Amino acid sequence: MTFQALGLIEPLQQTIAALGYTEPTPVQKQAIPAVLAGRDLMAAAQTGTGKTAGFALPILQRLTMEGVGSPLSMRCLVLVPTRELAEQVYDSFRTYGGKLPLRMHVAYGGVAIEPQIAKLRKGLDVLVATPGRLLDLFRQGALTFEALQTLVLDEADRMLDLGFSNELNAIMEALPKQRQTLLFSATFSDAIRALAGGLLKDPLAIQVSPRNTATKTVKQWLITTDKRRKPELFLHLLKQRRWGQVLVFVKTRKGVDQLVATLLEQGVAADSIHGDKAQHARLRALDRFKTAQVQVLVATDVAARGLDIDALPQVVNFDLPTVAEDYIHRIGRTGRAGAEGEAVSLVCADEVDLLTAIETLTRQLIRREEEPGFEADHRVPETGAAAVAAAAAAKAAPAAKKKRPFTGPAGGKAALGGKAAGAAAGGARTVASAARPTGKGGPGSVPKGAVIVTGGRGAKSTARAAAKPAARKTGAAGGGRGR
Ligand code: AMP
Repeated sequence: MTFQALGLIEPLQQTIAALGYTEPTPVQKQAIPAVLAGRDLMAAAQTGTGKTAGFALPILQRLTMEGVGSPLSMRCLVLVPTRELAEQVYDSFRTYGGKLPLRMHVAYGGVAIEPQIAKLRKGLDVLVATPGRLLDLFRQGALTFEALQTLVLDEADRMLDLGFSNELNAIMEALPKQRQTLLFSATFSDAIRALAGGLLKDPLAIQVSPRNTATKTVKQWLITTDKRRKPELFLHLLKQRRWGQVLVFVKTRKGVDQLVATLLEQGVAADSIHGDKAQHARLRALDRFKTAQVQVLVATDVAARGLDIDALPQVVNFDLPTVAEDYIHRIGRTGRAGAEGEAVSLVCADEVDLLTAIETLTRQLIRREEEPGFEADHRVPETGAAAVAAAAAAKAAPAAKKKRPFTGPAGGKAALGGKAAGAAAGGARTVASAARPTGKGGPGSVPKGAVIVTGGRGAKSTARAAAKPAARKTGAAGGGRGR
């Protein structure tokens, strides 16, 4: 299928061609016609699937073809959880809409509000914003929602994880009821379903197979050691294994700062991203990493989602994540577009429960190694039996609970399950026959109305499969790389 067949207008086609996109990804094939037709969407799709173009292209087309803006207002509002994602999505809109006469801007906290107010004065076609700053702007009278046609909630699960539910509720109260709403989430918890139920009208449900295919393309292993030895072990591995650029995940902001200090003391070029840093410092750190001025970028999970960093060979979990799904997001930073990737976790005894949760979720036992000289004094218990038992229980559970019929991306939490489809304002309508066999109530069964796009191919691997070079962006398409 071509982009032309999806009904996109000429200027968008030209931009897509210039970016080297030869074929729409599975999520784009589903989303683009539906959004063009004015449908609401409820999509389980993660970063790397091409979801941003999946919503940005048809929205840009509709904004160009229909309606006009008004001062202090925006016609399309895209809400995202983090500043980094806001910049990235804004870059995508600017790139995809490069040949269209549309006004766009981005607004997030941690930077001066006045330039954002000034941009809003004349009205915008697209505003990409984080919920907190948007609400500030609204409460200051700097914007109204009266011209709003389309609302996008991107990474909705992350917005709730980050505690934005009050802000979201306040924003939703203020929005016009007559609008198109697109909701994207990597996982579908009860809270997300409740949110969707109140927001979406007759949504098309799209499920793209999980990007935890990363768990197949990324070589994963772990090294057991004692907690206090981790910094030394990391330095040892960095040198001895001659790692190139490494993205390192640490649990706390303090832990990030400590590791960066140790690395800098040892002459390793390192920088960090975490929530305590000013926005310009975070963007600068990311830029320095993308342009290879620093070898090691140390981050909390704020950096785990959404960031599109090209050809990253190595991810290190200095600490295991407390939320098992974040493991998949973290290791998904490497092995992108089928490139060789390696994810190493440094695991100490008190992380064994976290490890069990990750192995259960990803249905694998991660290969264990010991590094001579760094063996753990506090032995890390074997997870095998516990993980296998938990995985079996997880598998059996949906059969007993017919109302939550299948485990979607990243395991059980992620299903666009019966409740999801049902709660979403009357249930998603069936628009295509499900592409996956539907065992009744079993782990592979499909909620009524869901469209399952199997294969889970990311955007770039789709391009590769078409035997064409994957998009090498010259500008800042999608991921905002090279910025
Ligand atoms: P996203 O999932 O939106 O973060 O997109 C992931 C990456 O895929 C971005 O770098 C996009 O530029 C790229 N991309 C999006 N759609 C396509 C496509 N149809 N073909 C090739 N690359 C794409």
